[in-house]
Amino acid sequence: MQDLIRRLLIELGENPDREGLARTPARVEQALRFLTGGYEANIDEVLNDALFTVDYNEMVIVKDIDFYSLCEHHLLPFFGKCHVAYIPRKRVIGLSKIPRLVDVFARRLQIQERMTNQIAETIREKIDPLGVAVVCEGTHLCMSMRGVEKQNSFAITSAMLGAFRDNSRTRMEFLELLKVRGLTATSTVPSPGLACVSD
Ligand SMILES: [Zn+2]
Repeated sequence: MQDLIRRLLIELGENPDREGLARTPARVEQALRFLTGGYEANIDEVLNDALFTVDYNEMVIVKDIDFYSLCEHHLLPFFGKCHVAYIPRKRVIGLSKIPRLVDVFARRLQIQERMTNQIAETIREKIDPLGVAVVCEGTHLCMSMRGVEKQNSFAITSAMLGAFRDNSRTRMEFLELLKVRGLTATSTVPSPGLACVSD
């Protein structure tokens, strides 16, 4: 990868041998390996020792989970907050595992809509809850840095499964607890935001 980065620097009109860039290919490789580390992660290893059977069926919410991802169209960052809720049927996930689950899907080349769905589907798959809801709010540098549609560089995406899809009161209770910017309790399933222009 370092040879490619060095080549990229040349293509950009840079001199890869100047002092400031000498170690850049190594640093970029290290950074990219970290930022795409989600491909290597094993979901079961992340979660396995923290799935518990409990007698609890009220809504569990983990709010304001920071995420940092890379848009697959431009390889530029998008980042923000992720909120996860579910209603257990019999099993719960250790609370500290939910941000790790978000990291697994954020640390890949992504679009925000798919990341949101993958987090929700994985929770459904692993603990079969009565419902699961994921809302992500992201700022997309591919839009704000390039000056494209600046107003929409902030995107909200949601995935609502089970009770959150079928029961508007459950969904509203969740959205009310979140008070996400741009979402109100009176909204129905929030429409997905414009995540990233692909040109
Ligand atoms: Zn993009």
